[in-house]
Amino acid sequence: MGVDFKNTDRQIYEQELEDFLPDKIFDAHVHLFDESCVPEGYEFPTKSCYRKFDCKFTMEDYLGHMDKMLPGHELHLNHFGHPSPDFDLDASARYTGKVSDNKKYYGMSMVSPHDKISNIRKRILDNRLVGYKPYLDFVDWKKPIDVTIHDMLPAGQMRFADERGLAVVLHIPRSGRLTNPLNQKQMVDICRRYPGAKIIFAHIGRAYYLKNVVGFLDGIAECPNAYLDTAMVNHEGVLEYTFRNFPIDRILFGSDAPIALLRGKSVEINNQYAYLMGEDYEIGTAIYDANHAVDFTFFFYEQIRGIKLASLRAGLSKTDIKGIFFNNANSLFSQIAKQNFGK
Ligand SMILES: [Zn+2]
Repeated sequence: MGVDFKNTDRQIYEQELEDFLPDKIFDAHVHLFDESCVPEGYEFPTKSCYRKFDCKFTMEDYLGHMDKMLPGHELHLNHFGHPSPDFDLDASARYTGKVSDNKKYYGMSMVSPHDKISNIRKRILDNRLVGYKPYLDFVDWKKPIDVTIHDMLPAGQMRFADERGLAVVLHIPRSGRLTNPLNQKQMVDICRRYPGAKIIFAHIGRAYYLKNVVGFLDGIAECPNAYLDTAMVNHEGVLEYTFRNFPIDRILFGSDAPIALLRGKSVEINNQYAYLMGEDYEIGTAIYDANHAVDFTFFFYEQIRGIKLASLRAGLSKTDIKGIFFNNANSLFSQIAKQNFGK
């Protein structure tokens, strides 16, 4: 199983993307795990996208797919496991460390607010990882809608990240996402209180439609340790606004593979968004095109199309584009690895 790559996909790559993309790509947001991370007896939901990849997605799977998606490009990446409270986070960190070299491949530990700091320290140091990936599902004492950033990342964990200069990929919680006043406050708080930590707000703060982003990047733009990744954002308006209103050298390309390898596109509808799906998998607000009204390509290609159009409109230079696709992430992660593990 896996991706069935069509001629029409190849044409998109050759006609629209190949000339635009730099030779080296750093994908800063990838989920990788093998069978050792999946607990005994665990069943993925029937419409989980991992079923498309035999219920795992390893480094070999990722690189194999990228050989087809982006032929001839040198891929570097930052990756972490599947953020599920059912998964064994120690086993996931071991797998992540095993397939990372801190040269091309960097890895992060998933963290639950219940994890003891001694355990997190061990996971990070034993497996030579560059940071954390918390997730709202690990906060099990409140309704998902009430989870705050400080619940996801307790002070002890942030102090350790601050001391070691680790990165944190943060998928912000709460309704309204970037527009949520408590999020706005806590996003800036966490950056200011822990200036040594590098906070990467995933999916541009989960802003998938224009109203969700306009006016809401200013607080974190002023924090030198705040970064954004573009994972799953293909909205050219959101991307253009971000390129014009957030320091370019702190924007990182990320795909969110393997979800990005599904066929679909995220679309803005009446100040909301939905994932229009060409395949019947359940991801967030998915609407499946059961009658095959249109031909889809991969979210992955739609994301690059969006970045291309937005960078044209925002007047980005070749250097800016190289920064977003490679240099920004490469310097961030190589510096963290050097600081913590030498060389
Ligand atoms: Zn993700």
